[in-house]
Amino acid sequence: MDQSKASMETLTLARRFGGPVHSVRIDAIEPFAPDAVAAILALVADNLNASAVFAAGTDRGNDVMARLAARTGQPFAANCVDAEPGSPVSVTRFRWGGSLLESALLHSPRPLITVAPNTFSAEAEPAPIEVDVKPFVAQLDETDLVVRVSDHIDTAGGRVSLAEAKVVVSGGRGVGSKEGFAIIEELAGLLGAAVGCSRVVTSAGWRPHTDQVGQTGTKIAPDLYIACGISGATQHMAGCKAAKRILAINSDAEAPIMLNADYAVVGDLREIVPAISAELRKSR
Ligand SMILES: Cc1cc2nc3c(=O)[nH]c(=O)nc-3n(C[C@H](O)[C@H](O)[C@H](O)COP(=O)(O)OP(=O)(O)OC[C@H]3O[C@@H](n4cnc5c(N)ncnc54)[C@H](O)[C@@H]3O)c2cc1C
Repeated sequence: MDQSKASMETLTLARRFGGPVHSVRIDAIEPFAPDAVAAILALVADNLNASAVFAAGTDRGNDVMARLAARTGQPFAANCVDAEPGSPVSVTRFRWGGSLLESALLHSPRPLITVAPNTFSAEAEPAPIEVDVKPFVAQLDETDLVVRVSDHIDTAGGRVSLAEAKVVVSGGRGVGSKEGFAIIEELAGLLGAAVGCSRVVTSAGWRPHTDQVGQTGTKIAPDLYIACGISGATQHMAGCKAAKRILAINSDAEAPIMLNADYAVVGDLREIVPAISAELRKSR
């Protein structure tokens, strides 16, 4: 996800706790080494006598905060959608891939909280305050650098990435086969969109796991999500419910996804998807 958007969402929640907000960059250590960042956070929090520590609920944010919790013995609430300061701090957080909201109390002088991505409208908040950058020199232990990123493989192959795409065209079992994804690829290409899919599709080997949207896949928040031949199981919706608009193309008017769809076309995707592509071509 867009790190700056994740940072703004985290700042939005942290501000509710009042007092000055200090920020430590997660990319302070390159290549990324979660234990080293956790060590820095622990030192800075002690130094500033921080009343709470927040991070974005991204893979890296949760990784660092889990390590910080293990180091300090402080309770950690991951993927929060709300938090109220106090003693104890009360949080609401996603559980079961976002299909359940849990209320919890954190009894701690310094609770550790990550903010679920795409749940705060950071844009609606006041502009970020001017920041005063102070260098902080941390003495790191060799063991803090044992776990670190050693390589990156670009799975998007230069295309727009699923997590950051403004439009995602996704296919489910209804697409029928690996080859059937040609029409999904075509529409995505015309829209400058990323291709996504359901777990049935990755389990069948039609698409790689990196394309999977859902509880055990990527969580996305595009402006438009086009779901073709996807029933809308809870575990799938956990990954796309933050989409601003959902267009469902499904032969079954009663499919659960229709309950979440802003627009729906009931019919055979093998006719509808190429027809949309043809119209897009005509209009260019
Ligand atoms: C622990 C756990 C984690 C999971 N994580 C995920 C996850 O991350 N992501 C995920 O997607 N799933 C996940 N699942 C699986 C999930 O429960 C569903 O099984 C899955 O999402 C269904 O995929 P589908 O919608 O493609 O298939 P189906 O449910 O079989 O739906 C296919 C749809 O295609 C429609 N259709 C068929 N033919 C056509 C046609 N020609 N034209 C138009 N429409 C057509 C049908 O009407 C139907 O609605 C998880 C399950 C578990 C238990």
